[in-house]
Amino acid sequence: MDQEKIGKFIATCRKENGFTQAALAEKLGITDRAVSKWETGKSLPDASIMLELCEYLNINVNELLHGEHITMEQYKDNSEALLLEMKKKEEATAKRMLALEKGMLFIVLPTYVVIIVSGAYLCKAEMIPLGCLLIAVGIVSVIGAGVIGLHIEHEAGYYECPNCKERYVPSYNAVLMAPHIGTARKMKCPKCGKRGYHKKVISKDRADEE
Ligand SMILES: [Zn+2]
Repeated sequence: MDQEKIGKFIATCRKENGFTQAALAEKLGITDRAVSKWETGKSLPDASIMLELCEYLNINVNELLHGEHITMEQYKDNSEALLLEMKKKEEATAKRMLALEKGMLFIVLPTYVVIIVSGAYLCKAEMIPLGCLLIAVGIVSVIGAGVIGLHIEHEAGYYECPNCKERYVPSYNAVLMAPHIGTARKMKCPKCGKRGYHKKVISKDRADEE
């Protein structure tokens, strides 16, 4: 926050609205020294009187904190840029999570299978405690990986209905119960109600896909 810029802005708005420092101070129930301190950038108005101050100055708190008038146009541009940035971040995260899931499937799961199989061999070779331990570790890990995978499936990206092209986030239960081929899952579309294999997509909007 640029205190000096805010101070100058307060002074400008005060004059525009026909107040002297003393008159504004009286309205707010504070000393004119306090107003002078704001305007010279030595302090900021307390949060407790900010709203009231903004009312007298005919500005909003956002403008006060930026130290300038914000037009509707700028406001819109700002929020649109912000939204776009958030969406990009969300999509990047979804991509990373899905890549992680694939990695888990191709590297981690076979490793667990090896652990379980070696456990079984150890049991056969009468090294039963160690063998059982390996099998237990393997089984718990497979379940863990499954749960994480399911979580990623649910959290990352959207599913697209091949019939009406609706993109949506299914419920946990729908993902859990759905048979799947790769990342496509057989589910019921929440929009058109048709069942089919719904493929995984990264973004909510078709137009955004490169
Ligand atoms: Zn549909």
